[in-house]
Amino acid sequence: MAEKDRRTYVRVHDGLTDHPKIIEVGGEAAWLYISALCYSSRQLTDGLVPKRLIRRLTDLSNPEALASALLRVGLLHEGEHDCSRCPVGGPDVYVVHDYLEHQRSAAEVAALREKRSAAGQRGGRRSGESRRAASKGEANGEALASDLLKQTRTKTEAETETETEVEEVLRTSSRARRGAGHDEPPRADVERVCRALADAIEANGSKRPTITKQWRDSARLLIDKDRRTVEQVLGAIEWSQNSDFWRPNVQSMPKLRKQYDQMRLQAMRDKPKANLPATANGHLPGTDSRVAEHYDLMNELLAEGSN
Ligand SMILES: [Zn+2]
Repeated sequence: MAEKDRRTYVRVHDGLTDHPKIIEVGGEAAWLYISALCYSSRQLTDGLVPKRLIRRLTDLSNPEALASALLRVGLLHEGEHDCSRCPVGGPDVYVVHDYLEHQRSAAEVAALREKRSAAGQRGGRRSGESRRAASKGEANGEALASDLLKQTRTKTEAETETETEVEEVLRTSSRARRGAGHDEPPRADVERVCRALADAIEANGSKRPTITKQWRDSARLLIDKDRRTVEQVLGAIEWSQNSDFWRPNVQSMPKLRKQYDQMRLQAMRDKPKANLPATANGHLPGTDSRVAEHYDLMNELLAEGSN
């Protein structure tokens, strides 16, 4: 077996060069499109590309005009678009259309990392050993490999290689992120929760808040440092904006992060003791169904409390 290739790749359809949209925009715009795919893959942005980086992605002379051409044919979206297939971003980004249809999402990469760390360092070492042993054709190579297979369900060789690739990507991108300082790549999960909170505040009749850098930093910390899932954060947003007490106290993402644990504890106290009665058709009557909805939100909030 050849030395393993640890670089990561984007997938490009082999009909790309003949695609009517590509023919319409021309080769230079197509190169910008490919560059945007590569950026998103390197930085795990789910297809979000900061507009200010468009000039740096290629050495072409008029990148803004090329981006406009890609927008016109729908290969790129403005950050705030209405394409149901693509994640939204802020006004400062472009979104590569259908990126997640063909490329690996940041969540998939994180799930693979989770799986990898669950298998443990030992599994990781054995994985390496088994591959090395197998490549030398040693007798115990197969035994190690089958042991590894048992440990990690039915992991295919491709998956194992993917995980190693993913680790590499994560190392590279976290290094890139640290080095980049304020120039961090955009993240679809962060944008999603910030937007959900802004939507909820606006839906309650308040002025729509601006999603600032502080909002994004707090959302990033909630997800990365506090280890809340996107679903838990969305649950907390809904909980806070449906509560007369919490609504005025949670008018920004930094406040949501600050109050998160207080809300979680209150949700735990308010947890209904008995199951709610269902009507004959299985649907709950008005008030009960609202309580039941809150019950689901509480469960979202509480989900991580049991770990
Ligand atoms: Zn789209």
